[in-house]
Amino acid sequence: MSEFSHTKKVGSSGRFGPRYGRKIRVRVRDVEIKQKKKYKCPVCGFPKLSRVSTSIWLCKKCNAKIAGGAYTPETGAGKVVTKAIRRVIESKSKEI
Ligand SMILES: [Zn+2]
Repeated sequence: MSEFSHTKKVGSSGRFGPRYGRKIRVRVRDVEIKQKKKYKCPVCGFPKLSRVSTSIWLCKKCNAKIAGGAYTPETGAGKVVTKAIRRVIESKSKEI
């Protein structure tokens, strides 16, 4: 019977652990999904945009580097940068 009471104690104290851990796990999973999700490249339109480092996104199709949000490329600041990148690519293509 002493063995049973011991496992019961562990079970009640362990209740806090999983509940606290689940919240963090959901938050981490949400961020990981956003990071792994392929975003549409604003330069070529292909969904080949992937995060290479914090706030840096690289298009695997046209190699455009986009500075955006830490977890998603869709930020106000990122839109300004992508506009600038598009302008550079357009001027380059005119030279060729
Ligand atoms: Zn692209």
